Amino acid sequence: DGPVLKHTYTRAIARPHGWVFVIPLTAHTSYGYIFNRDISGLEEVEKDFDELLAQDGVTEFEKRAVLRFPNFVHRRIYDGAVARIGNAGGFMEPLEATAIRLAEMQVGMILQMRFNRPAEYQENDVPVVNRFLINDTLTCGLFVGWHYSCGSRYDSPFWRHARDRAWPTYRSATDPAAVGCAALSKFDEMIGLINAPVIDQSDWDRRCGFPLTSFAQMSQGLGA
Ligand SMILES: Cc1cc2nc3c(=O)[nH]c(=O)nc-3n(C[C@H](O)[C@H](O)[C@H](O)COP(=O)(O)OP(=O)(O)OC[C@H]3O[C@@H](n4cnc5c(N)ncnc54)[C@H](O)[C@@H]3O)c2cc1C
Repeated sequence: DGPVLKHTYTRAIARPHGWVFVIPLTAHTSYGYIFNRDISGLEEVEKDFDELLAQDGVTEFEKRAVLRFPNFVHRRIYDGAVARIGNAGGFMEPLEATAIRLAEMQVGMILQMRFNRPAEYQENDVPVVNRFLINDTLTCGLFVGWHYSCGSRYDSPFWRHARDRAWPTYRSATDPAAVGCAALSKFDEMIGLINAPVIDQSDWDRRCGFPLTSFAQMSQGLGA
């Protein structure tokens, strides 16, 4: 009875040293502070985390752990015999919860090839599968990276680094000559579409890792 006062959806909260995910689960709520250890010290991150937990009214929590994770995609996710699935194939960061969806795509593509393509095509199919999966990861990566492009209301070293140093490398990082796929031009096309005064109905289903509606939400704000 009465209004629900607790959040029932996942939140991504910008903080001076990065951002915090808050995921309400059945029995508990999961909090995680994503930061860059080359920019912020653990002590200052923990202090800010404590402030956020206090603001959220969290008084009890399990022991904290600090997890390190790399950002990468393997150039050879599939070698024709062995497939690198999930974190073995690549990982970005949790902002858009892309890991399971990328792993599903890896499993789906490789099974599709193994079940439906004759073995004699394998030599040619393997690079195509790898290119497809790298493209899939990089299109998602560009969308996730774009979240950082304008920094945040916090004028802090983390956000300045994200806006002024990290994001500006996106074109060279996904240069087709270096990565062998067209993720960058797909991303550019999506940006072109959301900047157009009217989006033709035939383009409504276009995607670049994420659907056009997600691009619109990101660029114009939720509900705009
Ligand atoms: C708090 C949290 C929230 C998340 N939320 C989301 C989300 O909303 N959406 C999303 O898409 N992703 C999310 N992720 C990420 C996602 O859960 C992981 O990327 C995904 O589980 C990776 O799957 P994996 O099979 O590659 O690795 P894992 O799930 O880590 O599986 C690897 C397995 O290998 C085992 N193992 C390791 N070494 C050995 C060894 N030497 N011998 C035998 N076994 C070994 C491990 O015990 C483990 O069981 C979240 C992650 C965390 C931590």
